[in-house]
Amino acid sequence: MNVRWPWARRAARHDMTCREAVALVTAYLDGALEVREHDLLEQHLDECPHCSEHLKQIEATILLTGEVRAEHLDPLAREDLLDLYRRWRSERDRS
Ligand SMILES: [Zn+2]
Repeated sequence: MNVRWPWARRAARHDMTCREAVALVTAYLDGALEVREHDLLEQHLDECPHCSEHLKQIEATILLTGEVRAEHLDPLAREDLLDLYRRWRSERDRS
């Protein structure tokens, strides 16, 4: 994949957000990330159960289809993930 990731510069300065992590997962599985992006993403996956679950789902898709395409990551699935994450975070903040 030969895409310039517009958020890469931002990710270098801040912790990665879920939106950024989800967007980078396919490049990650392709081995197409720069070392710094790769490290940031792995760090995020360690800390974020929803993104690591998302990664597992993408891996399962690859096992089934033998490939990963951007259309597997439809916008609704991304919104579901962000929704889950926001709920998880607000529950955590309440306790
Ligand atoms: Zn996340």
